[in-house]
Amino acid sequence: MSKKTLIIGAGGVGNVVAFKCAMNTNSFGDITLASRTISKCEKIALNIKEKIGISINTASINADIVDDLVELINKLEADIVINVALPYQDLTIMDACIKTKVDYLDTANYEHPDSAKFEYKEQWARDDKFKESNIMGLLGSGFDPGVTNLFCAYAQKHYFDEIHTIDILDCNDGDHGYPFATNFNPEINLREVSANGRYWENGKWIETKPMEIKKVWDYPEVGERDSYLLYHEEMESLIKHIKGLKRIRFFMTFGESYLTHLKCLENVGMLGIKEVEHNGCKIVPMQFLATLLPDPASLGERTKGKTNIGIVAKGIKNGKEKSIYIYQVSDHEKCYDEVMSQGVSYTTGVPAMIGAKLILDGIWSGKGVFNIEQLDPDPFMKELNSQGLAWQVRELES
Ligand code: NDP
Repeated sequence: MSKKTLIIGAGGVGNVVAFKCAMNTNSFGDITLASRTISKCEKIALNIKEKIGISINTASINADIVDDLVELINKLEADIVINVALPYQDLTIMDACIKTKVDYLDTANYEHPDSAKFEYKEQWARDDKFKESNIMGLLGSGFDPGVTNLFCAYAQKHYFDEIHTIDILDCNDGDHGYPFATNFNPEINLREVSANGRYWENGKWIETKPMEIKKVWDYPEVGERDSYLLYHEEMESLIKHIKGLKRIRFFMTFGESYLTHLKCLENVGMLGIKEVEHNGCKIVPMQFLATLLPDPASLGERTKGKTNIGIVAKGIKNGKEKSIYIYQVSDHEKCYDEVMSQGVSYTTGVPAMIGAKLILDGIWSGKGVFNIEQLDPDPFMKELNSQGLAWQVRELES
């Protein structure tokens, strides 16, 4: 019987997921894209129809309301819900999946709108309920988290007896021509990069000031770029699932101009997430800033350059030290040609589609809540190569 797929969130990533699911209708069957603003869903549906000739359905939903989600999921008889709305909606959508006994997938871990702290605790706490409902919850099926976790799992499975250190290296070398813009949701992005950094070593988290640790990394097909240590959510699950790990860090590239803008915005209070009084009304500075910045979904057409995201793992195989670099390079313009989105949305949306495809095809299964590295990396790594995200492995000098 044909499957039914519900995608929630019609932003940059939702656009890519909808396109890629429509390109794989054998797995996804009847596709519905739902979001708060239905006109965004309709625009994406029209683009898909015009570009690849496939029709998808659209719906309006406020994903903060569990009862509304339950009603929509039941009405559509969905087999899976792909959550690419914002991290704030993770828990309500998970709860609706528990109530309707439908598999769940997301790309970013839960964050409360009032505290810029993201962690898996509340999503992991739903493991028993997912098990009781006989359903699978797949957490973090984007690029980072997502593909980076699977690169680690793949390295562990095929290259190492023990991995001792992992550096996750995220380079977006795209240029959109604006003085300042973010490549995915501005609020989520700016909360992430303005927070203190953190890495994990010898069983402990070590906190750093924002952008305190810099390393120059040579990214294949891009070149040498300044890369700054940030906290990133995949580290929280990888320290549980990678054997023998002694240290894990995450680095992201930022140019001088981006950092100068960020510092100015921070200095004048525009990154604040608490309400302030303005002319008799209450506003959240960060949300106001997000309103002023270019919509990430609109960057696609104008972004040029490449992304390169990967991991460097060092460890032991057959008693000898070794080191490998697994990475993926995407070209913003090629992404736009294929699905009308820039590379950051593309590299997130394609893995979301692949995770859901493996669940719907019955290749990945399980009851409960899983981080993606707990599943067999091989079928996913194979799909990456055929769905637009071909990757490379390099053995490095140890
Ligand atoms: P956008 O802001 O472009 O899109 C988010 C969409 O979610 C919007 O269309 C918005 O609604 C919709 N939405 C927000 N609140 C609700 C709600 N209450 N009910 C229904 N819909 C809602 O973000 P992106 O597409 O850039 O990012 C999507 C997700 O992907 C985020 O969670 C982000 O953190 C994650 N991400 C993950 C990455 C990874 O590698 N793992 C990398 C990049 C992003 P509306 O219809 O009103 O516009």
